Amino acid sequence: MLEQIRIILVGTTHTGNIGSVARAMKTMGLSQLWLVAPKEAPDGQAYALAAGASDILAKAKIVERLEDAIADCGLVVGTSARSRTLPWPMLDPRSCAQKAVVEAKDKPVAIIFGRENSGLSNEELQLCNHHLCIAANPEYSSLNLAMAVQILTYEVRMAALAEQPQVAAASEVIYPSAEQMDKFYVHLEQTLNETGFIIQQHPGIVMTKLRRLFTRARPEDAELNILRGVLTSIQRKYKQSGSDN
Ligand code: SAH
Repeated sequence: MLEQIRIILVGTTHTGNIGSVARAMKTMGLSQLWLVAPKEAPDGQAYALAAGASDILAKAKIVERLEDAIADCGLVVGTSARSRTLPWPMLDPRSCAQKAVVEAKDKPVAIIFGRENSGLSNEELQLCNHHLCIAANPEYSSLNLAMAVQILTYEVRMAALAEQPQVAAASEVIYPSAEQMDKFYVHLEQTLNETGFIIQQHPGIVMTKLRRLFTRARPEDAELNILRGVLTSIQRKYKQSGSDN
């Protein structure tokens, strides 16, 4: 699914930024990088900043027109540091990522980033279904290109992980039933009575507080068995010492 989400850089000036974008993408599992009319093709500086993501850089597609980079895409999102005069349907990074992972099942999705000095033109922004702004300091909202890509690709990864079935994770942990918890509390109270920690005439609210503690900790099935074992061992010891007396 992440293979279907395309990062497009338009008119990038600094090749180092292109390399940093490749790195940002690879750390989040994205690989489809398109460059529209870069000022210079990826060079040594780009490869230096791409570090271990040079494979993404090497297979980046270079085209002259933005239209060619988005032709086969369904959802097209244009990013911008400032809101433009023309109101357009807006997305924030999280909702964009959620939409992107759903729509990527059908057709490639494009997320477009602009020039370092001037961003995307109005004409370019008008090719997009949605505009996206990363909420930043209103007095200085322009992020470095690769950092803007990092935020978007992180959100895409989080959205993709959330889409995966949770069955395996859920089945690994077994929690006790309410009835098992109740039996544990009866056992605990019995033991604390036997040790004299709870004085029968003045029970106070100690059991309520212990219940709250164990509710908060939410022991797993196996942990509750250990606790029951601890209580039983204490009771056994008390019975022994009782019969010794
Ligand atoms: N001076 C330009 C900013 C360019 S920053 C302008 O005013 O538009 C280079 C690119 O990084 C932008 O075109 C955009 O794609 C991305 N970017 C930077 N900050 C962003 C933000 N706060 N929200 C969304 N995209 C941002």
